[in-house]
Amino acid sequence: MKTFAQNTTARVGGPAGEWITASSDQLVLAVLREHHLPSDEDRAAGRDTLLVLGGGSNLLVSQDGFDGTVLQLAFSGISAEPVDEDGVIVTVAAGHLWDDVVAWTVERGLSGVEALSGIPGATGAVPVQNVGAYGAEVSQTLLDITAWDRLEDERVVLTNEELEFGYRDSLLKRETIAGSPRYVVVEVRFRLSHAPGRALSAPVRYAELARQLGLDISLPEEQRRTDLLAVRQKVLELRGSKGMVVDPDDYDTWSTGSFFTNPIVPASSAEHIPAEAPRFPAGDNEEGEPLVKLSAAWLIDNAGAGRGFGADLTAGKASLSTKHTLAVTNRGGASTEDLLTVARAARDKVKDAFGIELRPEPVLIGCQL
Ligand SMILES: Cc1cc2nc3c(=O)[nH]c(=O)nc-3n(C[C@H](O)[C@H](O)[C@H](O)COP(=O)(O)OP(=O)(O)OC[C@H]3O[C@@H](n4cnc5c(N)ncnc54)[C@H](O)[C@@H]3O)c2cc1C
Repeated sequence: MKTFAQNTTARVGGPAGEWITASSDQLVLAVLREHHLPSDEDRAAGRDTLLVLGGGSNLLVSQDGFDGTVLQLAFSGISAEPVDEDGVIVTVAAGHLWDDVVAWTVERGLSGVEALSGIPGATGAVPVQNVGAYGAEVSQTLLDITAWDRLEDERVVLTNEELEFGYRDSLLKRETIAGSPRYVVVEVRFRLSHAPGRALSAPVRYAELARQLGLDISLPEEQRRTDLLAVRQKVLELRGSKGMVVDPDDYDTWSTGSFFTNPIVPASSAEHIPAEAPRFPAGDNEEGEPLVKLSAAWLIDNAGAGRGFGADLTAGKASLSTKHTLAVTNRGGASTEDLLTVARAARDKVKDAFGIELRPEPVLIGCQL
């Protein structure tokens, strides 16, 4: 019997009632036609019959598992079509591994997603939380998606604008309740750049990455382009040093990546936080008050939950990564509850020290923080 422990990067979680690995989008549609979208109330109460799974790298499922059908999207395919002098549309099937997409585009001199190298999972999931890293987000290059709308029982195309992307957020995520999505993504299209003879990256927007590549972050964007492959390699190197590239031999990567999102709070709620804490402008709230985005990693580190924190709470089975405080990791043999114990303790320390409520980034199924 297949379990979530065998099929997620955190390697925890029980079995499912039924497990379907769909190797074509026709099979996906056949399964979806049998699994209509339940009411919002049923979904909120966990009464759905279907859970859509890509690579399982942003999921935490209880040890009891999921009492319905898991539909794992495993069909792949990628193609590129030039549209104008420097634009190329790349079309990718939902089950295609995301990092293979990035490698494929970089090999062909197409720029726009190279800073998103090394992120695990499938391409169908990248728009769900507007995957982002090192100053890039998929919303910067995503053109549109094709999805099955389980509410209307029809195939739909949603444009970048219609997806209402935000920080680790999209319409797709907001319409997903307790892991049960209204829209099931089957294909994603990106518009990437191709300058013939010059395999140059998109402008580098992340200070640490720019420094490591010998670029001056204070220069105008156009002067912050560099060799495309060098950007991919440097991102992979930086991510590897933080345990953010999945490696079966490294427990620091048995995780869901960042467990918490960076909190966005009114600037006035962050006044008491030490001046050295990183903070970035994040627009205004509905009352017109300025918002700031804080670094969850900094808050955790400075609340007394450093690297490796939490091992004593779980008899060594789970802890924060020894490379990065934002990842809650399975040290071999952990249960879902062990990971949540560590996450709760880190969250509570931040709340006590700074009064800031951290929110989980992964989708939690059958369990709560
Ligand atoms: C080591 C590590 C590093 C990571 N680094 C990053 C990072 O830098 N930035 C970042 O943003 N994330 C990061 N993540 C999180 C994760 O990899 C991404 O969110 C990824 O896009 C999830 O893809 P997946 O296929 O594994 O999704 P899953 O975990 O399988 O699913 C996640 C959610 O998306 C839904 N979903 C999946 N496929 C579809 C589909 N086709 N249609 C509709 N809904 C779907 C699922 O139902 C579920 O709700 C990291 C994770 C790990 C383990």
